[in-house]
Amino acid sequence: MRIYEPEDDVTRGDIFVISAPSGSGKTTICRALIERVEGLSLSVSSTTREKKPGEKDGVDYYFVDEEKFGNMLNSNEFLETASVYGRRYGTSRRAVEAIVSKGLDAILEIDVQGGASVKAAVPEAVRIGILPPDWETLRARLTGRARDSRKEIARRLAAARREIKELGNYDYLVVNDDLETAVRQVEWIVRARRLRRERTIGAVGRILGKEGEKRDGSSNG
Ligand code: 5GP
Repeated sequence: MRIYEPEDDVTRGDIFVISAPSGSGKTTICRALIERVEGLSLSVSSTTREKKPGEKDGVDYYFVDEEKFGNMLNSNEFLETASVYGRRYGTSRRAVEAIVSKGLDAILEIDVQGGASVKAAVPEAVRIGILPPDWETLRARLTGRARDSRKEIARRLAAARREIKELGNYDYLVVNDDLETAVRQVEWIVRARRLRRERTIGAVGRILGKEGEKRDGSSNG
């Protein structure tokens, strides 16, 4: 039998993909999660869409033009990319690696196309889908957001339908009926994941240790 050593613990962090249709409270949930759970870091994406009021370059996104995005794509800088409402978005391979190699968990707040690509590239990535309580609530949330035009709302609703369907393939689904409950549920998923065998197996070695084994005279070979 293989004896597990304390250093067997996988010290790399995990990748958590969080996706949701627009209006499901994904951004709010992610922000609350980062504040509440230690050792989490949000991966900042690059996008070709224009900066909205209040957004900061390098914080919300890296805002780049089509040419720069194309160059980054050609240089294989992206772990995944997607087009959302005609704009391009991409997750930096290096940024995610910088997070997980430090033992921190990376949060990727990306759409379902990106979620599928990340899962294909990194099968152990954990995908969490945030769902609205029902269709009417989603519609009301989208309609109530003053910053979006009617055309934009209609487009988002159509996209939401497709996205919700795709979220059915995710590992975990959280219904955002009550914000606090939803944040807590996402927190449980992250914390439970940190207890998985690969990240904690070293405990077996620490408890049994070589000395303990000699003392008990066990030899399971
Ligand atoms: P927004 O423009 O409203 O910030 O984002 C539009 C959609 O693009 C959201 O669903 C958001 O999660 C998604 N998104 C943001 N960054 C990325 C990314 O790097 N990759 C992918 N695939 N989607 C992204």
